[in-house]
Amino acid sequence: MIESDSGFTPLLALEQQRHPKLLVVDDQPSNIEALYRTFSPDHQVFMATSGERALAVCKDNPPDLVLLDVVMPDMDGYEVCARLKADSGTRDIPVIFVTSHDDADNETRGLDAGAVDFIAKPFNPRVARARVKTHLALKFQSDLLRQWVFVDGLTGVFNRRHFDSRLEAEYRISARNGSPLCVLMIDIDHFKRYNDHYGHQGGDDCLRQVAEGLQACLRRPGDLLARFGGEEFACLLPETDFAGAMALAQTMERQVRNLQIAHAGSAVGSVVTISLGVAEKPPGRLGDPISLVRQADAQLYRAKHSGRGRACGEPQVRDEAA
Ligand code: GH3
Ligand code: MG
Ligand code: MG
Repeated sequence: MIESDSGFTPLLALEQQRHPKLLVVDDQPSNIEALYRTFSPDHQVFMATSGERALAVCKDNPPDLVLLDVVMPDMDGYEVCARLKADSGTRDIPVIFVTSHDDADNETRGLDAGAVDFIAKPFNPRVARARVKTHLALKFQSDLLRQWVFVDGLTGVFNRRHFDSRLEAEYRISARNGSPLCVLMIDIDHFKRYNDHYGHQGGDDCLRQVAEGLQACLRRPGDLLARFGGEEFACLLPETDFAGAMALAQTMERQVRNLQIAHAGSAVGSVVTISLGVAEKPPGRLGDPISLVRQADAQLYRAKHSGRGRACGEPQVRDEAA
């Protein structure tokens, strides 16, 4: 599904490759200007004139690579590099030193601090571009590998582990901002019979098609679809109120029906259908992520018991006077 044309990619690296972000750190404006001229045609170039500032930029808006001067007042490049490597949020950003001190001692010190390479000052633009290109390619490859940990092997959508951690995070954000948050639980109808009739391989193919159909329904970058387990999917919808979540659930129900995957054993109809449960986070700091999922599950149960091939949900009751 990763290579499908549904627009789906949990792998941000592909997006990043088009506009790599470079952070240039140097206390001399003339050096920054020269590096800016070299890289700005095909990179997004950010600048920092001190180590302290560079660390702040890396935390707030992590670049894909840092070009780092060694000799700077206050905090030198070695320390900046060591600090980036000590923080799990910035550890994976490759650092290249740009330095006129390119003797063996200084190179060893830089590599020990965690740098991936050196560019000698004054630099040759073609050489500098080639080195940066190589290290960006390596960086994107390792981003890709890291992200596979969060992807379900069969369907290519996110896995349960990623869903759980995003749910925790989004729940906290919603509790703090008062922004709405909804969860959908989605289950394929009579899937045991599907396997019995079409075989396990047929069942796997069906799961992949359903996942692709569901993913195609998502429009906002924050929406997240995951395989929750077996033939069950879950959807996390930040900044989405109950009415919006219910509308999406109904769109998904239609979308899967319209895939027209033949299902000879279904009691719902002749094609594969899904049932969905919709739950909305209670306002403010009430509730917790586990009860939200439980609530969506209870609504899914209602959908199953009222005929399948439909979405059920119940909005939070709000105190109108409040
Ligand atoms: P319901 O409409 O009530 O959801 O009925 P159901 O048959 O879909 O539900 P049940 O939980 O009884 O069965 C789920 C089936 O899904 C059983 C299992 O064999 C199948 N299944 C779970 N994971 C996979 C998988 O990865 N591949 C395949 N092919 N089948 C799977
Ligand atoms: Mg089922
Ligand atoms: Mg099930």
